[in-house]
Amino acid sequence: MWQQIVGHETVIKTLINALNNKKVAHAYLLTGPRGLGKETIARTFAQAFFCEREESIPCDQCSNCKRLQEGNYPDFHIIEPTGNAIKIEQIRNIQKSCQYKPYEGIGRVYLIKNAEAMTVESANCLLKVLEEPNENTVFLLTAENPYMLLPTVLSRCQRLNLRPVPPSVLADWLIKQGLDSERARVISALSDGAPGKALNLISPKEPDRRETVVAKAAQIQRGDVITALRIAEDMEKDKDAVKEDLDLLATWYRDLLVWAKTRETRLLINLDFLDEIKKQALGLDINKIGKDLNDIMKTRKNIQSNVNLKLSLETLLLKLSKSA
Ligand SMILES: [Zn+2]
Repeated sequence: MWQQIVGHETVIKTLINALNNKKVAHAYLLTGPRGLGKETIARTFAQAFFCEREESIPCDQCSNCKRLQEGNYPDFHIIEPTGNAIKIEQIRNIQKSCQYKPYEGIGRVYLIKNAEAMTVESANCLLKVLEEPNENTVFLLTAENPYMLLPTVLSRCQRLNLRPVPPSVLADWLIKQGLDSERARVISALSDGAPGKALNLISPKEPDRRETVVAKAAQIQRGDVITALRIAEDMEKDKDAVKEDLDLLATWYRDLLVWAKTRETRLLINLDFLDEIKKQALGLDINKIGKDLNDIMKTRKNIQSNVNLKLSLETLLLKLSKSA
């Protein structure tokens, strides 16, 4: 439902107006950093588009709404990278399916996630589809890096740019999700205005991942060079996950610092790991942890600008493992 989405009022209004006035574009491109809500908006739009009862605000009750929520409505298609790329076969399948009438007669919506992962062949194939628009067929593309898309594809899409949600708005929303205000404020501050990131900090999609990071932190603090380098090598193997691992590591060091300084549980992010926080914070040098946290954040930022990943991670891990 639109009301459950935090922020992005202008974008939502644009889509609702288009639905109400029956002036839906053939293709929309939703852009913005990860976790901002691109996919949530796209899915809500699809639900509104197919809803049997309402024009622009999905009723959540009808059979179409329900099937969309369960992920089995036959005219809503999701295309996402297989491996690192959206391959030509995937776009050819779209092309083929466009030749037939939609199963349920209303229309068709294609959600192309991480559209910048299309190969040049894929993008050119999609371009052909976009150039001969079918009636009642809508393409929703999402992209973190729209500049990586072919300009010809860009020019065929109506751009909807999502901006970070203001921290106070995000904090209020987190309170509505049941967080107490202090924790909501802290998590909002660490989420870069991305609701998805905030949710992932509260309850990670992959809880095991956090456990692994916590275990790594414990190993790092034992402080031998070989272990540090091994952890760096380990992290580098899963390039997609490095940013998230560093985010988790940063929240962990932050919690150690907060605990060492205040002993206040309500300020902790990884509250469910309280015992481990107490254990690891024991006898830690506060200044060193503060410096470590800084180094983690810096590395996290550098990685975005595509520096040598292996070298950055090794440098970081060696710094972290060094005793004060
Ligand atoms: Zn409905």
